[in-house]
This record gives sequence, structure tokens and C-alpha cells, in this order.
Amino acid sequence: MKILICDTMNSKVLKELHSLGECIDISSSESKDQDLVTEINDAEIVVVRSSTKLTKEIIEKGDCLKIIARCGVGVDNIDIEYAKSQNIKVTNSPSANLNSVVELTVALIISAARKISLSDSHLKDGKWDRKEFIGMELSGKQLGIVGFGKAGRLVSKIMKSLGMTIAFYDPYIEDWDGPEKRLELDELLITSDVISIHVIKTKETVNLISQEKLDLLKNSAILVNTSRGGVVDEDYLVELLKLKKIFGAGLDVYSEEPPQNVDNFEDINLITTPHIGASTNEAQLKAGIDTVENIKKILAGDDSVAL
Ligand code: NAD
Repeated sequence: MKILICDTMNSKVLKELHSLGECIDISSSESKDQDLVTEINDAEIVVVRSSTKLTKEIIEKGDCLKIIARCGVGVDNIDIEYAKSQNIKVTNSPSANLNSVVELTVALIISAARKISLSDSHLKDGKWDRKEFIGMELSGKQLGIVGFGKAGRLVSKIMKSLGMTIAFYDPYIEDWDGPEKRLELDELLITSDVISIHVIKTKETVNLISQEKLDLLKNSAILVNTSRGGVVDEDYLVELLKLKKIFGAGLDVYSEEPPQNVDNFEDINLITTPHIGASTNEAQLKAGIDTVENIKKILAGDDSVAL
């Protein structure tokens, strides 16, 4: 059985994959796109993280393909409908990255509230102008969560312990009777002090936080997106920060990765990270182990882990 490994995997996970079949690892190839096209032809299993795009055109080259295993949660890089139409099982590891992405989200919120990135550069430039770094206390403020799934709820739980009140917008949750306030999107954007985005990427969520929606934010608001690039109009967000029409922002994900407009990111209260939400040893190992377990289950005829 040929297993095509397209993205970097933890060494323990690689060992497990090697025990399942003949592994071809193109994760560090300089001609990865070309290798993918040729190597997928006789592969039975393809293992990817988020950076490999498995479009219909690529998947249809996989004449023997049985399983696509996504090591991580988001599957927007895979044409699932086409894969399913070809009877290819697609599986992911939805919970493995949860703690890591949530901890990064909390770090971005606190960093924006206290202008940590700007003040760090300031001090390292040999300056000590403390009045430039008046921050915002989070206790007593409203956190608005867009997409109240696993990550949104865990961020809420942690931020509640800092004294924040929680509101959320999620049209797919029915009959909510929890203590968190359910709001429509516009009302959430108008009333929240911090907005954190945790939706999955779908046709509906692309540009969900558009220019028009960003204009609803308070001048004192912070917006953080660790979900998927393209959900927020990032260019307009940067414009608002430059005009000081919002207080701060944090981004881990971008409509184009890596983003091409990084010069615009200088000297504003924007903390940026290069899509590292899941980049901890713990998350990578857990996602890898879950992926191997899912592959084993599907090979044994248990499709409960297939999407
Ligand atoms: P989840 O499926 O548990 O939650 C997503 C929530 O979004 C659901 O409650 C769903 O009802 C809601 N939703 C769907 N469409 C919506 C819409 N139009 N408006 C409002 N809400 C909507 O997913 P999760 O595990 O909480 O992950 C959230 C996001 O974080 C995903 O996009 C995932 O890809 C991303 N993620 C990023 C990283 C990273 O490295 N930055 C790591 C892990 C996860």
C-alpha cells in the first residue's frame, strides 16, 4: 500500500505510517506541486495538513486513491464532494489542535489589548516612552464570538475567567439556553469590545466580516481571527488600524498565505503570526496519532471517522 505524505509529520507519526505501508514523503520537496501530481497516481492513501490543496484536478489523478487523511481540523483545502463521489474516504482530526489554537487566540487578544508587539519593538529600539502604550483592561468587557463551536466555546471559558462577559453569533446553534448572550451578527459587532472569529470556512463565511461589517466596530474594539483566511477583509482591517478607527487586531490566518502586503502591517497595533495556531509539539503529535488511528479504522471497514 502506497502512502503519500504531503506535509510535515511528527517523527512518531511517521514511524506509525511506515508500519502501515510504503511511504513517499514529499513534504520538504522543492518541487512539491509537481511531485504531488506524479506521486498521487498510484497512492492509496494521501496524508495532508492545511498547506496542500487537493482539488478535483489533483484527486482525479489518483487512480488507486482510497483515503485522504487530513492531519488537523479544517478541510477547506480538499474537494470533499468530489472525493466522496469517487468513493474516497476523507477523514480529519477535529479536536487535536483545539487547545493550541485557543491558547494562541487568547495570546493575540491579550497582546492586542496591551500593545505588546508594538511596545516590545519600542523597547528593543532603545526607547522608553510609556505613555504610548496605554492599554485596555479586558475585565468587565464583552467578548463577541463569531462561530460558537469547539474553539469559540473554549476561548469563552478562558476569557470568562478574566472577567469578560460573552456574546456569540452562530446561526447553526438551535435552542440556546446557556448564560452566554446570543446576538445577531451586526448587534454583536456593534456592542462587543473584543471580537474573536471561530467559524469554519464555507461559501457563506468567506468575507463574512466584510468592509461593511468592520465599519460597525467600536473605535475601541479589538478583532482577532485564528479561524481561516478570507473570512475577514484583512486589507480593510489594516486600513482601520492605520486610521485608528479600531484599537487593535490579531491575525494568524490570511486570504493569501503568506500575505504579500506585510509592509502595511508596520507601526500599527496588529499582532501577526504565520498560521501557527496548531503549531505546538502537543497538537502536532495528537493530530498525527488521531490521523493514523482514523486510517486504521477505515482500513478495517469502520467508516465512522469518515466525513
Ligand atoms: P467547529 O466546527 O467546532 O466550530 C465552527 C462553528 O462555526 C460551528 O459552531 C458552526 O455552527 C459555526 N458556523 C458555521 N457557519 C457559520 C456562519 N455562517 N456564521 C457563524 N457561525 C458559523 O470548529 P472549531 O474546531 O471550533 O474550529 C474553528 C475554526 O478554527 C475552523 O475554521 C478551523 O479550521 C480553525 N482552526 C485554525 C487553526 C490555526 O492554525 N489557526 C487551528 C485549528 C483550527
